[in-house]
Formats: sequence, structure tokens, C-alpha cells
Amino acid sequence: MECLRCPDGWARTGTGGNCTAWQIILADGRYALITDGDCNVPEYDSKDLVIALYRNPEAIEDSDEIAGPHYGNLASCLAWFAANRDKGASIDLSAYRNADGTLVQYSSFGSYTILYCGPKGECYCAKCASKVQIAHVGTYDEGDPLECESCGAEIESSYGPVEEKE
Ligand SMILES: [Zn+2]
Repeated sequence: MECLRCPDGWARTGTGGNCTAWQIILADGRYALITDGDCNVPEYDSKDLVIALYRNPEAIEDSDEIAGPHYGNLASCLAWFAANRDKGASIDLSAYRNADGTLVQYSSFGSYTILYCGPKGECYCAKCASKVQIAHVGTYDEGDPLECESCGAEIESSYGPVEEKE
């Protein structure tokens, strides 16, 4: 029985106590997972690995797979990861994070509403934004409340609805 050495930067993750699954967590909650395909035998053929890139384990969508699967030996899987690790990545949201890493709903200065939008323009509340790909972020100053695409929470603009002029 031979277990491959866990690649640098990866961590073994539970598939029954053996080392048939490795995971690497990326900064924005995405992660890649390498397994031996059937996930339950420690003595696997090194040609038989499978890798895919996923969204946050607590992802709100059922299909949280971003890219893959890719089949190949360990070197091939790691090369695939190097080429695909940025797929589905959010823009840099570091300016919008609290000390604990969660995203802010309101700006620290002026308490303006922060709106997070996905690649298709869908809007998310701060809580859900950390679990999906965010392509745009900015303040939402004026207008009717929006609905979070994921949880349905109401996102009110900083100044409320635009008053109709007569
Ligand atoms: Zn939400």
C-alpha cells in the first residue's frame, strides 16, 4: 500500500482517515480538492487522481463547482490547479473586510450601504457576498431597496428611494 505524499501547501482532508483527499483553501473561500476518484481506498493508482475547484464549502448554490473535474496523475493535477486557480475569483475585497474577514454591509466612514454584485450584475448582501463570485463592489446611495439574490434580504440604499418629482 502506498500513500502519496501530501503536496506542499495542501492539507489532508477527511475521507475516512486515509490520505486520499487533499484540499487547498484559497483566500476568498474557494478551494481545490484532489481525490482518487472513488474516495475510499488508500492504495490508489497515482494515475487515477481527480481535481476540481469549488466555491466555499458553505456555498449557497447546490452546484458549487467552479472548474473541473480534471483527471490525471499528481503532477498533472497540480499543473491544472496552477492554470485554473484564479477561475471564479472575486475582485480584491480586502478594503471591505472586517478584522475577522467577514464583509462589511456599511462603510466604516459615513455608514454608506455597500453593494456587492456578481458577474451578471446580481446583487448580494454582505453575508452572502462572501460565498459567491463578486465582480463589482461600491456604495448604493439612492434608490429602492434591492433584494439579495441569494437570501432575499432587503438591501436599502444609503439615502432611500428617489422621491418622485411632480
Ligand atoms: Zn443575502
